[in-house]
Amino acid sequence: MDIKIIKDKCTGCGLCVSACPYDAIEIVAGIAEIKDTCTLCGACVSACEEDAIIIEKIEEKTKPTDYKGVCVFAEQKGGTPHRVVFELLSKGRELADKLGVELSCIFIGSEIEDKAQELIERGADTVYLVDREELKHFNVEPYTAVITRLINKYKPEIFIAGATSTGRSLLPRIAARLKTGLTADCTGLDIGEDGILLQTRPAFGGNIMATIECKTKRPQMATVRYKVMPEAKKSEGRKGKIVKENVDKLDLTSRTKIIKFVEDITQKINLQEADIIVSGGMGLREPSNFKIIEKLAEVLDAAVGSSRPPVDAGWIPYSHQVGQTGKTVRPKLYIACGISGQIQHLAGMSSSEYIVAINKDHNAPIFQVADLGIVGDLFQIVPLITKKLKELR
Ligand code: FAD
Repeated sequence: MDIKIIKDKCTGCGLCVSACPYDAIEIVAGIAEIKDTCTLCGACVSACEEDAIIIEKIEEKTKPTDYKGVCVFAEQKGGTPHRVVFELLSKGRELADKLGVELSCIFIGSEIEDKAQELIERGADTVYLVDREELKHFNVEPYTAVITRLINKYKPEIFIAGATSTGRSLLPRIAARLKTGLTADCTGLDIGEDGILLQTRPAFGGNIMATIECKTKRPQMATVRYKVMPEAKKSEGRKGKIVKENVDKLDLTSRTKIIKFVEDITQKINLQEADIIVSGGMGLREPSNFKIIEKLAEVLDAAVGSSRPPVDAGWIPYSHQVGQTGKTVRPKLYIACGISGQIQHLAGMSSSEYIVAINKDHNAPIFQVADLGIVGDLFQIVPLITKKLKELR
């Protein structure tokens, strides 16, 4: 779609300027002029009494049928692929097999060639490898430029990335450049009967699951939450292609300069990688009581999690928050202490392998997802478990 001012008809009356909710029109030398902030909402078209503004359909240069294949963005840190990539490869493989197409990966970094084979062993047929010193660390501008160029070159019908901080800043930019849609934070992907990607994500505060389709634009793009899908298993010696890609120098320019990396040291154990998580909620009553949770976590070599209200109250940093607006986790064991189990918390932990809930209210919703429910006072139960475990060790 495009918007045009018919200069012969425009009287410069300014009705369109007042009608535009995005402040995207100005009158220049007596004629309306559209700015980049225009969203094509059409408010100005309805407001114009002279029929001097038209929105018209532009003939697309490419058609959906020109696009084929499923492509995964293989995010890396320090040269090693992020584990979400293995989850994307397992889902990507399933989608590609349903469509009968190839699964590819875009892998960008520096001195990463030796890691490309693992992506093939975990399901990719082709890895497009961009190995440049300038691309060692994630930098949104060059990464956007390089990936956009590769998507335009290879035209995958589906392009997915992890809903990590990298994926969340990168994919909207790529989608905007490609003028296609993007569904952020998906928890499920599938192929519909008509071959369209079904992109499922929580909506309205997690109260409903919405399935979104992108019917006319390509690629169909989604970011996928970490730890909601199983990882692709490694198949040693699996064969595939590694295609080394050149980079246009212009794509490497950036207004952002990386000065240094500062690791998050508030977590001894990474919440999303932990096998065991002990989480506390508002049942703890006050910040100092998180010590009870920390002591149990220590004997279990576990990470400490939290529901959102203690984070909002400043009792514990945001990096510990589990749930819809925090982290999605999938440990072998999740121990919820004084957490009611509202849907937004469950969204982040219900796929844990084994859930233990300690709550004094036997009607607390957390018990509906718990494998083992303990009804009682956490201030008695948690220290008892900690003591018993210490003795056993
Ligand atoms: P409460 O609901 O207050 O529950 C405290 C529980 O402790 C109760 O069940 C009580 O019975 C129990 N308890 C009290 N004393 C004791 C005791 N001595 N021993 C044992 N049990 C005891 N929440 C998240 O967690 N993560 C999110 O990412 C998140 N995102 C959200 C996004 C949106 C858009 C919205 C609207 C909300 C979000 N929330 C999120 C908030 C969510 O709706 C709940 O408010 C929150 O999960 C409740 O936290 P809680 O269970 O710790 O507190």
